[in-house]
Amino acid sequence: LKEVIAVGNKRRVVILAGVVLAGCFSAAATTTRAPALKTQKLMGRDYVSAADVATAYGLGGDQHRADTVALYRAPGRQLQIEADRRDATINGVRHWLAVPVMSARGGLWMGAVDVEKSLEPVFRPDRLRGSVKIRTIILDPGHGGADRGARGPSGQSEKWFTLDLAKRVQRELDGSGAQVMLTRSSDVTMSLAERVEFCRRNRGDLFVSLHFNSGGTASGIETFCLPAAGTSPTASAAVRPTDQQRQPGNQFDAHNVLLAHYVQEALVKATGGPDRGVRRARFYLLRHISCPAILVEAGFLSNPSEEKKIQTPSHRDRLAKSIAEGILRYKRSVE
Ligand SMILES: [Zn+2]
Repeated sequence: LKEVIAVGNKRRVVILAGVVLAGCFSAAATTTRAPALKTQKLMGRDYVSAADVATAYGLGGDQHRADTVALYRAPGRQLQIEADRRDATINGVRHWLAVPVMSARGGLWMGAVDVEKSLEPVFRPDRLRGSVKIRTIILDPGHGGADRGARGPSGQSEKWFTLDLAKRVQRELDGSGAQVMLTRSSDVTMSLAERVEFCRRNRGDLFVSLHFNSGGTASGIETFCLPAAGTSPTASAAVRPTDQQRQPGNQFDAHNVLLAHYVQEALVKATGGPDRGVRRARFYLLRHISCPAILVEAGFLSNPSEEKKIQTPSHRDRLAKSIAEGILRYKRSVE
């Protein structure tokens, strides 16, 4: 097992022999390492026992039935998993995993990659402390101009709501000490490549793309970040050959997840959900942006009752406040 890690400009190669060191994948300037977790091959994938994970993170086992459902807890940390499910609740937020939780040998097992890429950044954000300085925040209102985005039952386009939301988030971040820039501040057509270039040219330190969802009467909040190299996106069960490729955005894996987690948590709390989870997708923006990046779907425009809410300025204010809150919590964690 050979894992190349990179955070910011610091790159190093760690060679591990049959074990996952659950702590050594984050920022180079880390303190002590987590206890080593033994991996087991199950169905051709590397798994670690949930009981070992709980021990490694100092979680008390409040297991219902050890082989089907488990809830582990410690002050400030909580993990809930269930056999055959591909999502877990980590510190109260739903996270989509790379591999389903498995029941075997009288206990539950989690994918080693999920412990490393989802659990570790959320459980130990202190490991990222001091890794970056957030001087410039880039907000990206989705769509614009000829690209109208999704359209609600009443006919209003996503591109207007994303721009309005971005401006509100910008106001909320006033006084944060960081410069806040919008990829577009009017109704103009802008390609994804132009948005990536905007972020690079302006030396963005974090990037948040803002969208509203489309999908019939579904409702709730989703936040996307890049899948780890070698894992399938949330929308797919199998790992395809292209999923193996390491993308430029993968150098920020830990930062991406932590940013997504905080923003998702704040949005779900403010809106009451439903929590559709931190999801993984190889969107062009997430692959190519030159800093930690997420894409937020702040509600379903296609759902008539959710559209009504999105049309309400006070609701958009609530969304903006929570997105800003998530960004600031991330900023405080990594600086
Ligand atoms: Zn969109």
